[in-house]
Formats: sequence, C-alpha cells, structure tokens
Amino acid sequence: MTGSPFPRLLPSLFFFATLTAAHPQQSAQTAFTIRPAVVVVGSPELITVSAPDATTVEGEWLGHKLQFFHHDGKWIALAGVDVETKPQTSSLHIIALTATGPRDFSRSIEIHPAHYRTGKLTVAPKFVEPGPDEQKEIAADAEIKTKLFSATAPEPLWQGTFRAPVKFPPTDSFGTRRMFNGKLASIHKGMDFRAPAGTVVRASNSGVVVLAHHLYFEGNCVIIDHGLGLYTLSMHFSRMDVKEGQHVEAGDKLGLSGATGRVTGPHLHWAVRWQNAYLDPAKLLHLNLNAIR
Ligand SMILES: [Zn+2]
Repeated sequence: MTGSPFPRLLPSLFFFATLTAAHPQQSAQTAFTIRPAVVVVGSPELITVSAPDATTVEGEWLGHKLQFFHHDGKWIALAGVDVETKPQTSSLHIIALTATGPRDFSRSIEIHPAHYRTGKLTVAPKFVEPGPDEQKEIAADAEIKTKLFSATAPEPLWQGTFRAPVKFPPTDSFGTRRMFNGKLASIHKGMDFRAPAGTVVRASNSGVVVLAHHLYFEGNCVIIDHGLGLYTLSMHFSRMDVKEGQHVEAGDKLGLSGATGRVTGPHLHWAVRWQNAYLDPAKLLHLNLNAIR
C-alpha cells in the first residue's frame, strides 16, 4: 500500500526511543508555569512546577512560604499577591529537591498595579468610633481570627474551580479605598454581592467550617478553610446553617444573607484569604482549577 504513514513514522518513533534511553535525565523534564501569567496586585496565582523526580518542593515569595502539593507528577501551590502589596519586581524562590541534588526554579516576577477605585460610604457611628465595650469585642474577635488562621489543614481541601456563593451579581468593589463617614479610610478586601436579605449562601468549594459566629464588624460570619492557608469568608448573614468543624462540599448551604455587622444595607461580603493576604475573589472565580485536582 502506497501512502501509508508507517514507513515515515516508524523511524522517528525509533529515534525518540533511542534518545530517551541514551539520556535518562530527559524523562525528568522540568517546567514552570504561573497562572494568570500577568501578575497584578490582589491576584491569586497558581504556580506549577513539573519535577516528577523531586521528593519535595520548597518556595518563598513576598515573605510567604509556598506550600506545594504533589499531583500527577506536578508540584502545585495556590498563592497570591495581597491587595496592599506595592507594584514591584519580586523574587520568587523555588527549589525542587531530587535524589541527584537540588534544582532551582527561582525567577523574577513583575507585579503590576491593579486599578481599584475609591469610594465613600456611611455606616452607624459606632462602627467608625467604637466605644470601650465595642473595642473589647473587636479585640476578642481579632484573637479568635488569629488563632483560627494559624491552624490551616495541611493539605488542599478544595476540588476544582471555585464558584460564586450566590446567584446575584457581584459589584466590582474589591480593593476600593473607602472613607467611612468621611473619616476612616480602609481598603475593601472582599467582593460585595447585591443579595437581598434571605438569599441562600453556598460554599464556593469544599473545606472545613472553622468559624460560624457573630463578630463585631463581620456580623454573622462563616469562614471555610480550604487547606494550605486558603480561606473564604462570608459575612453579614441573617442566619447560619453550619457548625464549626463541619466539612462542606461546593454548593452546600451555609446560611442566609443579611445585614448584620458593619453594613449600609443587606448584601453578602465575600472574601478570599491566603495566609495573611487578601486576594481578589473575582480573579479566584476565573482561575480554572478543574484539571488540577
Ligand atoms: Zn464588603
């Protein structure tokens, strides 16, 4: 039979087989990716190192220790750039430890500015100038949060891409510099969804509920640990339907949205935290994690 592809294909297959046998280190292919490739302030970043022969991979970026997990011959870390980080050329340090010695994946990463807005809003005066009792409550809340954020699960608990917690549209409010009652400036470290009171709020991914409790500013607040320092926080619930220690799957009901805590009206405030960095929830929702685990 003329025109068969085999006579031409076979020699090239043979060539590759010979190459692999003659150079066994070729099988230990190395590669590095970071997604999104253009890194901006507030962005979550998925870092992948292909080092199948590595026994462990260690990393450090912007003062954060990167925690890699092994999946399908790849080493993966879900990291990010805090909303308050200054645009800069940063050093990303990554070392893969292999039987034949360490392999260095370190490189420079350019952090570009993100253009977040400035806004003014008005809340009850007690949230701008809290009295002594309120200050005590705020300090106790801070202690609770410090404690829970220091005890994250040692492996990833999420599965696939994160999904929005409610069906209502988000506002592009992450990173907004806010003036409260014309006095106190703070950066809005989450995303607000225009959800009417009583809207069902769902888990955006699997994890463990580490807080389901009333806090001064956050109101009724549900925090889910997704492992390796990654958390989602949902605030201002009128009702909470989960308990601390409970495992949740993506889509599980957490409770009903409301207007508890420091609010101007009913909405869902949804935040993404990695270690002590606050990341843009919209960017996490756009990050395709379906092929990862
Ligand atoms: Zn908010």
